[in-house]
Amino acid sequence: MFYSLVSLLILLIVLMIVCVIVANRKVLKNRKRVVQLIWVAVITATCYTAFILTPADRYGLACFAGGLYFLATDWLVVYLMLFAAAYTKVSPPSKVPRRIIGLLAVIDSVSFVINAFTHHMFDLKAMTAPGWGIRYWDVRFTPLHYVHRFFVYSLVLYSLCIFFYRFVKSPSIYKSKYGSILLQVTAVVGINILCSAANLYYDYSVALYASLAISICYLALYASPRKLLEKIHSTIIGDSVIGLFAYDNNGNCVGVNRAAEDLFGAEEDIYAAAERFLADWMKEFQENTDNVIGSERTFDNKGNKVYIYATYQKFSDGKGRLLGSCIQFENRTEVVKKIKAQQYKATHDMLTGLLNRNAFEEEASEILAKASVPYCMVCSNIKDFKLVNELYGAEAGDRLLKAQAEMMRASAEEGSVSARIYADKFCTLLPKSSFDEKVFLDNMNRILSDCLETTFRLHYYIGVYDITDVNEPVWTMYDKAMLAIEAVQGNYDQFVCYYREELLQHIMKEKEVLGEFDRALEEGQFCMFLQPQIANDGRVVGAEALVRWLHPEKGMVSPGVFIPTLEKAGLIQKVDLYMWECAAKKLEEWKRGGREDLFISVNISRKDFFYLDVCEAFRTLQEKYDFDNKKLKLEITESALMENVREVLRTVDGLHELGYDIEIDDFGSGYSSLGMLKDINADILKIDMIFLQETKNVRRSGTILKNIISMSKELGMPVITEGVETREQMEFLTSAGCDMFQGYYFAKPMSVEDFERGYC
Ligand code: C2E
Ligand code: CA
Ligand code: CA
Repeated sequence: MFYSLVSLLILLIVLMIVCVIVANRKVLKNRKRVVQLIWVAVITATCYTAFILTPADRYGLACFAGGLYFLATDWLVVYLMLFAAAYTKVSPPSKVPRRIIGLLAVIDSVSFVINAFTHHMFDLKAMTAPGWGIRYWDVRFTPLHYVHRFFVYSLVLYSLCIFFYRFVKSPSIYKSKYGSILLQVTAVVGINILCSAANLYYDYSVALYASLAISICYLALYASPRKLLEKIHSTIIGDSVIGLFAYDNNGNCVGVNRAAEDLFGAEEDIYAAAERFLADWMKEFQENTDNVIGSERTFDNKGNKVYIYATYQKFSDGKGRLLGSCIQFENRTEVVKKIKAQQYKATHDMLTGLLNRNAFEEEASEILAKASVPYCMVCSNIKDFKLVNELYGAEAGDRLLKAQAEMMRASAEEGSVSARIYADKFCTLLPKSSFDEKVFLDNMNRILSDCLETTFRLHYYIGVYDITDVNEPVWTMYDKAMLAIEAVQGNYDQFVCYYREELLQHIMKEKEVLGEFDRALEEGQFCMFLQPQIANDGRVVGAEALVRWLHPEKGMVSPGVFIPTLEKAGLIQKVDLYMWECAAKKLEEWKRGGREDLFISVNISRKDFFYLDVCEAFRTLQEKYDFDNKKLKLEITESALMENVREVLRTVDGLHELGYDIEIDDFGSGYSSLGMLKDINADILKIDMIFLQETKNVRRSGTILKNIISMSKELGMPVITEGVETREQMEFLTSAGCDMFQGYYFAKPMSVEDFERGYC
């Protein structure tokens, strides 16, 4: 019995020293306190062993060794308390109580040392156990010894309380960390109390202290942290936002976490789904020998597209044998959606959903780089689109743009790309063979009439550039198609224009005209020329006023060069107002000079009806100048009528009321000349020179002319034919019943001075 206890104690001392050596090798949490505790336990066990080994005749030494043992128990509980505080992270007693405890421990310790002489704490008596024949030291405690015990048990109780508090307060996974030590300390203290109470020959609880120290070392430094780590790991994996499928070495799914369940749908057999996922993965990455492989994938979860980033990881043992594997996946759906939305925003026009400028350039360049067939660039522009917004609101404008975009999307063919470049300017790059002008125009007309339920007729232009060099920058192609539009802008009878090299020159010229126009008007570079009009009896009855630009450098510029440009730019009315005033002034002058029989006919541009109150302009003139209204004849081309019937008819009525005669100019040059005649209440018909110029079909032209003349006679309208260049023409027209002539045969347009010299 005695020897087994001694052997056990020696064994435990050795074990404790081994523990310290092992613990010191690694950096472990709480190691310092644990090592301190073990050292004190080593000292305690050693002192006790020494004490019980002290022979019966060495009473003084036994007292000293016993005192050391009790002294050591003081420090054992002090260090237990310090360990408990460190381990549970409950702060140890504050400075003052700590000092008091230290002081008490020191007093107690000193007291035990002195006890060897004074025996005020305990006394010893060498005994032999009856029957057993065992020698032992019988310890007889003095009342003061119980003070020591009280001190010791108080500290133990304090430590237990700390552990208990932590045990109760901590979440379940932490309970065993504190619970295991709490249980062991309680058990050891309990046994110690029992041992004391049983008054045994030896204090067996010393062995338990030593075992406890070893156990604490194991629990505190190894077991609990590892267990805790495992629990934390499994909690992290279970609750992680990262989905996880775990597989054994045969590819059978052995674990699925919650995120994975959520992602793959809980009602389905998630294990089967996980195995399918791995099988698919293996098919793709069989060749890959890497331990970790990442890949982006998508799958369908009840109709929702899910984007994930999956990582496959293999686990092998030291010999390279596969232990298992896992697939982790991050749900990237939201991120991908966000990125896609951003990408969409960066490359699309938000209103119409078509590509934007930059994206168009990129895609068009890509298409052209691979193009094996001829391509063309088609641009469109709605005329006066700004007006739509102003008159019908931005919503109506948006509706129109969306409808056009929809039309372009619906008719998009393989290998084409469309975009909204800016405002109402759309652009499509497509194979030339896919572009059907008529279909495009029909679609455009349908959109315009569907979108705006109004009588206001929108006009649009389409510019087409047949691409000859695919290496040209996309924007050069676009500019060329837009240039084609610019060339026809302002024309109401033309919708489509194909880019030609001359257009560029033409546009340059136009720009030149417009650049010089204001100054020219200010400096009086425009002047009135007159071309005589002759009655069929040979008398000069009047003249047509034709504008001439007397350019300081270019000399005389004829109206064919600048009038269309000014009409397009909306500036023609300035010239016309000027010309009408010149004519009115001249008529007043002639009236005063006694030549009131001559008339002057002036031209009214179709654009004047847009930009001017024509009636008002003539009313002002007659207020300002004294002339006979009947002597100022007004020429309106039939194309002006066709464009803007209502407005022109209203103006014509107004002008009639003011007493003017209206001539229909260029009659026969348009498409619906006859139809128009029934609507307009004109006074004179001016037949276009086209019928005289026609050389191939002289007979047919003659027939038409004859019929026009006889028809106008029936309508009671005098007829004037312009462009008469030969005597034969004049004779033919006379025989057909034409009333008046104008043409080079009689005279070319001339300056007013020349006209007056010749005819007044
Ligand atoms: P228009 O009103 O049809 O004027 C007649 C044009 O025919 C004039 O050309 C005249 O010079 C030309 N002409 C006259 N007799 C003959 C002929 O026998 N043979 C040929 N080949 N041509 C003849 P011009 O002066 O060059 O004017 C061209 C057009 O410019 C005019 O056609 C008219 O539409 C416009 N224009 C001229 N002056 C004005 C103006 O003050 N205001 C407006 N709005 N337009 C004007
Ligand atoms: Ca005319
Ligand atoms: Ca004419």
